[in-house]
Amino acid sequence: MSSHPPPQPPLQLLFMGTGTSTGLPLTPCLTLSNPYPEAFSDMVPLLRATSESDSPMAHIKGTWNPQGQFPNNIPCPCCRSAVDQDVPEGWKNKRGNTGVLVRKQNEQTGGYKNLLVDVGKTFREQAARFFPKWGVKTIDAVLLTHGHADAYFGLDDLREWCIRQGRAIPVYLNQETYEKVCEAFPYMVDKTKASGGGDVPQLIWKIIKDDDQLEIEGIDVKVLAVHHGIYFHTIQPTSTPTTTSPSERLEPEPLICLGFMFDSSIIYISDVSSIPEPTWQRMLDRQPRQRPISSSAKMILPTPIDTPISTPSNEEVQTQDQLPILIIDALWPLRPHASHFSLKQALLAALRLKPKYTYLIGSTHPTTHFMWEEICLALRPEGENGKREHPDRVQSDWLVKRVIDRIYNERSQKERGIKERWNLENKDGIVRPAWDGLVLQTTLDGEGEVERLDLSTRGLVY
Ligand SMILES: [Zn+2]
Ligand SMILES: [Zn+2]
Repeated sequence: MSSHPPPQPPLQLLFMGTGTSTGLPLTPCLTLSNPYPEAFSDMVPLLRATSESDSPMAHIKGTWNPQGQFPNNIPCPCCRSAVDQDVPEGWKNKRGNTGVLVRKQNEQTGGYKNLLVDVGKTFREQAARFFPKWGVKTIDAVLLTHGHADAYFGLDDLREWCIRQGRAIPVYLNQETYEKVCEAFPYMVDKTKASGGGDVPQLIWKIIKDDDQLEIEGIDVKVLAVHHGIYFHTIQPTSTPTTTSPSERLEPEPLICLGFMFDSSIIYISDVSSIPEPTWQRMLDRQPRQRPISSSAKMILPTPIDTPISTPSNEEVQTQDQLPILIIDALWPLRPHASHFSLKQALLAALRLKPKYTYLIGSTHPTTHFMWEEICLALRPEGENGKREHPDRVQSDWLVKRVIDRIYNERSQKERGIKERWNLENKDGIVRPAWDGLVLQTTLDGEGEVERLDLSTRGLVY
């Protein structure tokens, strides 16, 4: 008898959205409304007026075209790239709310069970864009990360899926998120609150805890609780209120957002400002809930079809028990944010987890997808950025130089700079920006591999 465990079907990860809470492009950028606040001008330079005498704003207003043609001088390079057909892969700057679909093929039936992570404001449009391409025919379970609009405001759009499937869809969420759903959609938890025709999504609420590990539709799911900024909650007084002690006060608490580890091979953290130590330990302990997974893994990444980033060829690059894929929040390259990781924090997380592939999600304007690619390439020992012709080239060079100076080479007396650490500790680790429609596949059957499927195209254009 073989000592290997039976082969597992490959796990597929399909990116529904890789953008921010608003999604990209931002409409005020497209309608040439006021540019983003001056305080953000150190992120990426705005497109400048063509002559010295023009103020940037006068120039912007003068080019508005009510016929519907987007002007090519939209100051925000990201939102401009999203609509400018002449920008190569500019469509990658169209980003929905962060979310993924995880699925595994059933060997008996050949069909997929689809597990959706977050159903945000852009769920319906992203599903219309990608589900036909991906052949998604069922939604078998939903996981919610947290109680913000970009994670659950699309729940109502599950209605037709429930009707067609003729059954309720289980939704896994923590208690705090459940309470938010009750406030926003009372009719989803209490049918007596429905009005009109009375059609409401049939959902089964499954409350999960920070330290849960469960199997959903054949996929091992480990909950990873992280902090996502803070919220204020009311503290009731312990004694009778007086004039000096108010009746109640507001206390800040970390907002808990759930990340997930799937089949011990993919870690997904979409919204995070800090990671508590117990969660680090849960990530570093990658024991599956039930079955053993072979530790002899290799990874193969075919040459990408639609992006010119250099990639490893079909060579064996994996070492024993290395985490295949980390997907992590990175809102801005240079600035920190109160409720999201920046590039630096995302890379520090990758240095601790040492995944083979790190995909950055949650990025917002004015940084473009091309700029993110260049930033990631600049982390490589050989520093391959700066070689490609591109309309974003000038602004990209400006940004990459600052990232190298302020993030990659910045060092303290105690600690090396990020780039030096990367080359010492995780030299073969690849970092890339993800995009909407990307599909990854990983297997962990002793011949494990990670590959990008050719489903990773732009999907249906809308
Ligand atoms: Zn913009
Ligand atoms: Zn959020």
